[in-house]
Amino acid sequence: MLVPATEMLKKAKAGHYAVGHFNTNNLEWTKAILQTAQELNSPVIIGCSEGAGKYMTGFKVVADMVKAMIEEMNITVPVALHLDHGTYDGCMKCIEAGFSSIMFDGSHYPIEENIAKTKELVKICAEKGMSLEAEVGAIGGEEDGVIGKGECADPDECKMIADLGVDMLAAGIGNIHGKYPADWPGLSFETLAAVSEKVGEMPLVLHGGTGIPEDMIKKAISLGVCKINVNTECQLSFAEATRKYIEAGKDQQGKGFDPRKLLAPGFEAIKATVKEKMELFGSVGKA
Ligand SMILES: [Zn+2]
Repeated sequence: MLVPATEMLKKAKAGHYAVGHFNTNNLEWTKAILQTAQELNSPVIIGCSEGAGKYMTGFKVVADMVKAMIEEMNITVPVALHLDHGTYDGCMKCIEAGFSSIMFDGSHYPIEENIAKTKELVKICAEKGMSLEAEVGAIGGEEDGVIGKGECADPDECKMIADLGVDMLAAGIGNIHGKYPADWPGLSFETLAAVSEKVGEMPLVLHGGTGIPEDMIKKAISLGVCKINVNTECQLSFAEATRKYIEAGKDQQGKGFDPRKLLAPGFEAIKATVKEKMELFGSVGKA
């Protein structure tokens, strides 16, 4: 059974650790994330972007796959299935499809419009027992095909959105999606501290978790971040392990071309990355 992210994030915030949000792309990804969470007795959030949903032929397929895997794999740790960077329409589709959590990314709208749309979704999510993430201050890197530098959110705007009754808030603090450039100045802890002070108990979300140095991750958690999004890092580990397998010619030995063999090293690599992140975020044993 899927659960909203609300309770696991409240617990994480109170316990000074973070729950990992890992984006899924297919069956292997989903299985690797669920298996690792169960083995480490950690709560977990499976993220699905609109693009990944489309790739998997629709959000219903994603929701049904995750739910069926939880059942077939006897997963007992709390699992939330969360739409990552949703448009308003995408949010509606995921509510329909049976997700337990959604993110409405209204950061590119003027604040008034972000507030109006977020408000509507707060109402629907409350009725459906789902959790809702809002975003203030666009997160840099490639988001919706636009390369940004990593904005810092206005703490007052964060407070306005937090007060609407969302369950978690993503505030831009200089973080970027994808790989970080060599001249990246680092996270703005000044912004994070100011946002944290304004929004109080509201769980804060850190996007772009790939490549942020460990000490910065730990400091962010100490300042109220309790959900950290990891996407690119699992993709890089999967690609590297798969490349090694092919380059070693293993697909040409025996039945090495069997997808269950061909995708196995990549699967194990995703598991290793998820494990490493859960240990860093402090969520191991917290289910
Ligand atoms: Zn993001």
